[in-house]
Amino acid sequence: MRAEASLAAVTSTLASFDGFSQDSGMALPCDYHMHTPLCHHAKGEPTELAARAVAMGLTEIGFSEHNPMIRNDWDDWHMEIENLDAYLGKLHQAQKEYPDLTIKHALEVDFIPGHEDWIRELARRHDWDYFIGSVHYISDTFDIDNPFKIDQWKERRPYDVWSAYLERLTAAAASGLFQIIGHPDLCKKFCFYPDEDVLPLFRTFLETARDHEVAIEINTAGLRKDCREMYPSPAILGMARELGVRLTFGSDAHAPEEVGADFAAAVEFARSVGYRETCRFTQRRCEVVPLA
Ligand code: ZN
Ligand code: ZN
Ligand code: FE
Ligand code: FE
Repeated sequence: MRAEASLAAVTSTLASFDGFSQDSGMALPCDYHMHTPLCHHAKGEPTELAARAVAMGLTEIGFSEHNPMIRNDWDDWHMEIENLDAYLGKLHQAQKEYPDLTIKHALEVDFIPGHEDWIRELARRHDWDYFIGSVHYISDTFDIDNPFKIDQWKERRPYDVWSAYLERLTAAAASGLFQIIGHPDLCKKFCFYPDEDVLPLFRTFLETARDHEVAIEINTAGLRKDCREMYPSPAILGMARELGVRLTFGSDAHAPEEVGADFAAAVEFARSVGYRETCRFTQRRCEVVPLA
């Protein structure tokens, strides 16, 4: 299966080098951020998301389910460790049904200091194509994007939350555990914006990502949240480009209709700050490819 998938990857790279695909008129980048019902808050099986990807003219996607946590009762929105094989089985089934679509195997992994050994253990369980490192938790009990935790936002100064978030995000980039950092300004989701200048915090994070050859993603899910803009903001993406940070794209689909959502706009966004390349990952190795 892996050999076939790799061969398909090579073929699709060659096919996309001319920059165009039949369906959309413009080749869309890989959608590397998608979820499945195993996390209990997404709908649509991988085969259904794959069907949608094919219909949209995507040539490569990657599933990045919320990782099994150090304990299954950590919270109620990650997949359980017992379901890892079921997850991979679903991805293999989708690959079998859509052989012309390249389907990468990944996880969106919560970076929490102290969980590094657990994350390494997960890494050993499969020949993953990439791990997306995401920060949702700034403490063991405050996941800042959880609508049920708005009260915790109200008890704190926005700058304190943003600083704590960026401290973890920077540590995630330096950890060597991840190929991509997910939704790098998730802290804006509910519009608790600090008055202070936060760009220096983002610069530190982005310099760290560049130095460790970790990509960031444009995540279009932000458009569907209160903040009404993609992650990251234009100022942060512009700084990322200026510093030479690599880029991937993700819809963060939690339903089939969200696959590849707003990708044409995301490509335009990337180009507007000067990006001309994106990257693909195969068994943790990065391949830089031209952006359509
Ligand atoms: Zn989710
Ligand atoms: Zn596999
Ligand atoms: Fe996330
Ligand atoms: Fe996600």
